[in-house]
This record gives sequence, structure tokens and C-alpha cells, in this order.
Amino acid sequence: MARKLARGERLVLASHNPGKLREIEALVRPLGIEVVSAGTLGLPEPAEDAPDFAGNARIKALAAATASGLPALSDDSGFCVAALGGEPGVLSARWAGPDKDFAAAMAAVYRKMEASEDRRAWFIAALCLAWPDRHTETFLGRIDGTVAWPPRGDKGFGYDPMFVPAGDSLTFGEMDPEAKHAVSHRARAFAQMLRACFG
Ligand code: IMP
Repeated sequence: MARKLARGERLVLASHNPGKLREIEALVRPLGIEVVSAGTLGLPEPAEDAPDFAGNARIKALAAATASGLPALSDDSGFCVAALGGEPGVLSARWAGPDKDFAAAMAAVYRKMEASEDRRAWFIAALCLAWPDRHTETFLGRIDGTVAWPPRGDKGFGYDPMFVPAGDSLTFGEMDPEAKHAVSHRARAFAQMLRACFG
């Protein structure tokens, strides 16, 4: 049995990424839970040196929960391209460099895969809920699709403009937030977390 988050409890969102914060806040809002971001509390960003999404999510959630004394929710996610053996994967943020230049990161991904006929790609999200006593609950979500080039749309963040989810024709970058939330890796992990840890 997963540990539940008590009603009325404050939750720290253990992310400094504005795009993710926007999406997680929208997902949490209907639950009536009061959230506060790690940035607002002045919490430091821990080094994400685990080899997988779940490990990095755990590092971030535990760092925020133990530093704040409150339950914390983290997201570690990334864009994976079949022709690149799953890269950029856990290094998705790093491909954009210190300037967080995702136009450059998308161009670098496309240059490396251009010669391949395999256009399959997917996003993965690991969500981790951690408590100050170091208990954690982790959930994974995935959405499969294909690479679009050139990139299209400015509604999302990160690699959204170069990804078309299976069965759709718009990129994540062209979709309204509600349409992305209906299918996204993050929303799928969130739905599992809701069933296990809320209510
Ligand atoms: P990290 O989880 O902080 O290591 O960063 C994950 C990176 O993956 C983000 O900075 C984005 O570049 C990318 N990413 C994760 N989720 C999404 C998404 O929903 N859309 C576009 N890019 C994403």
C-alpha cells in the first residue's frame, strides 16, 4: 500500500524548471492542495547524477523534503529518440547547455538522427513523492510518437516542438495545455500517483 498525502498538507514542488512547474501546478490544482515551489523556499538544486529517471526524481524529491520538512513532489523526465539509442534521455536538460537553448538542442538531436529512417521517439516522466522521514513513492509515465522536423509550435517547452504523439498530427508545441495533459508522459505518471497517494 502506498503512503497517502494527508488532506490540507502543503506540498513542495521540487523543480526549478518553469515549464514543468506550470504543468505540475495545473495537474495539482484540482486537488485543492496548497503547493509551494522549491525556488520560492530558496531550496538548492541537488546534482542529478543517477543513471535513470526514477533515481534522479528520488534525489530531487528527497532533497526538497528533507530541507523543507514538508512532503515534496519531483519530476525527472526526458526526450528519447530510438535512432539515438534512447538519447538524449536522462541528459535531456544538459543537451541544451547552461543557456537552456532548446532550439540548439533540438537541432543537435535532429543532426544526429537525420540519416536514419527510424523516426520513433518518446517522452518519459518519473514523478517522486518524498516525505521528510525519507519515505518515497515513485511513478513512471511514457508517451510514444515520432520526431517532427522542422520544429513546430511555441505552446510547450523543451523538446515539445519536435514531438508528435502517436495518433495525432500536432506537435506537443502546437497543442493547448489541456490536449497535452490528456496524453502526456507527465499526466500518465500523475494519474497513477493520484490513484495511489491521494484521496
Ligand atoms: P530534468 O528532468 O530536470 O533533468 O529535465 C528534463 C528535460 O527534459 C527538460 O528540461 C526538457 O528539456 C525535457 N522534457 C521533459 N519533459 C518534457 C516535456 O513535457 N516537453 C518537452 N520537453 C520535456
